Amino acid sequence: MRLRKVISPALVLSLLIVGTATAAVRTITSRGETYVPLNDIAPYYSMELSESGGNVLLKNRWNTLKFEPNGRRCWVNGTLVWLSNPIRKIGWQWAAEEADFNKTVDPSVRPYAFLAKAGAKTIVLDPGHGGNDHGATSPRKVHEKLAVLDIAKRVRNRLQARGIRVEFTRESDRYVSLSDRCKKAASLKADLFVSIHADAASNRSVKGAGTFTLAPAGAYSTHSYGKGTASSSVNPGNKFDLANAALGLRIQQNLVKATGQEDRGVKRARFQVLRDAPCPAALVEVAFLSNAQEEAMVIDASGREKIARGIADGIAAYLNDIERAKR
Ligand SMILES: [Zn+2]
Repeated sequence: MRLRKVISPALVLSLLIVGTATAAVRTITSRGETYVPLNDIAPYYSMELSESGGNVLLKNRWNTLKFEPNGRRCWVNGTLVWLSNPIRKIGWQWAAEEADFNKTVDPSVRPYAFLAKAGAKTIVLDPGHGGNDHGATSPRKVHEKLAVLDIAKRVRNRLQARGIRVEFTRESDRYVSLSDRCKKAASLKADLFVSIHADAASNRSVKGAGTFTLAPAGAYSTHSYGKGTASSSVNPGNKFDLANAALGLRIQQNLVKATGQEDRGVKRARFQVLRDAPCPAALVEVAFLSNAQEEAMVIDASGREKIARGIADGIAAYLNDIERAKR
């Protein structure tokens, strides 16, 4: 009886879950959708829930999750991660869709819990475009295809210096089809595939770095939220949903840290190289060539080196998560 007085139900729940990796948080159903209340996610991570500055915060000494009420934005230790659906107030409490919790939040917070079987030997870097396909072109005529090839080579140098095996889908300025990029990754027995691109927008004030991973089956891609129904097709890359989320966050976190760019977040998309990747994969949009400040960063070798450091550090952090998972 004395024991019952000192152990709160929340603590009992967290102990149960820490002890059994397969245990799930409680779910509730509303209008046909299954949700996980943030009040249940908090004890699952031994976090405290509070509301601050209009946001819902879950916090312990290691991690902080910030959720935007009625929004799809969630910040994991300060890095923006897009949920597929907004968090909603159901009854008296805020709740996230179960799929968002399982496929985005949990692998972002506990990557090591899902990577015990992930490979870590061969990294395949995929510089976007090439040859007649120039990709985006900046006002000062910087071609995406050349900038991303240079950045990829800098990423390779940094990873090789750490003893990591790195292969390329293209090493020169030539055209390679999207399906050949995935086939090449498969023939190289890639454990990790990172496609490197740069963006452009008609609005020249748009800037920042973003990292895309494959949208899980049934989830909206970040930019098509609310348009029609989300695709329910299962793509080869969906085998790696949890590792994809873990990888995306590590790259985005480290890229923004290295460059100080605006954080556009870890987003979901169904790009062909993500759909058909034979291993966990991410596509990084390193900067907006249409923005004067970011164009200058990409023209400058030290700017490209910063970008490369961010991507390489992100890949290394993901490989560390794998090592931790295998311990
Ligand atoms: Zn591109």
